[in-house]
Amino acid sequence: MTLDARMIRLLLELRREGITDPRLLGAMEKVPRDLFVPAAFTDQAFANMALPIGYGQTVSQPLIVAQMTLALQASERMKVLEIGTGSGYQAAVLSHLCRRVYSIERHADLLKEAEGRFKTLGIHNITTLKGDGSKGWPQQAPFERILVTAAAETMPDALADQLAVGGSMVLPLGPQGQDQALLRVRRTESGFETENLGLTRFVPLVEGAVEMAQNRVAARRAP
Ligand code: SAH
Repeated sequence: MTLDARMIRLLLELRREGITDPRLLGAMEKVPRDLFVPAAFTDQAFANMALPIGYGQTVSQPLIVAQMTLALQASERMKVLEIGTGSGYQAAVLSHLCRRVYSIERHADLLKEAEGRFKTLGIHNITTLKGDGSKGWPQQAPFERILVTAAAETMPDALADQLAVGGSMVLPLGPQGQDQALLRVRRTESGFETENLGLTRFVPLVEGAVEMAQNRVAARRAP
């Protein structure tokens, strides 16, 4: 099957699953998912399934990406913070729906690969940072939207603090390896309001950053 045919089949499947928002489907159509998965998985890149991206991490199933993106309700003028760049797929979808995406990844190697993909696709409105996303990006705050694509066990307060008033954050919250609650936290003038959007399952949000493989080797060799 040609790339176009596989993409059309994926979009039809998303429609069948209830994703009808034309802006979102248009954004997903612009992002060739085969570019975001390791070569061994390109055949499955347009199937509605999560796929491994190395380092024990996964790119979410397209339906989950669609649901998370819809829940975020981002518009063209917004500044969005994503935690967990991973393959860069979710960030690339968001880049077509908002003004600028700030994306933080703790894994230097994954981040480098994702940056290469943004360049290949000519996406210029994603700014990346290697580090611990649970601390957010204070220099760029406040954000109108924050999307966390790894599950925290407890509410990441630093992220909530970096929300603009009127802004909202979508995040999976709960224990590792079990069902987590997908929450939308809105910041109001007087505090925070939390909505439970259902159950989900994400890889854990882990503290600290991981250096590039070659740096790790160099570090080990150092006296
Ligand atoms: N959004 C990604 C999928 C993310 S999988 C995509 O579209 O492909 C979750 C990602 O979160 C992994 O890449 C993992 O390394 C990263 N991660 C986990 N804890 C983190 C943290 N504290 N800060 C930044 N990234 C983190």
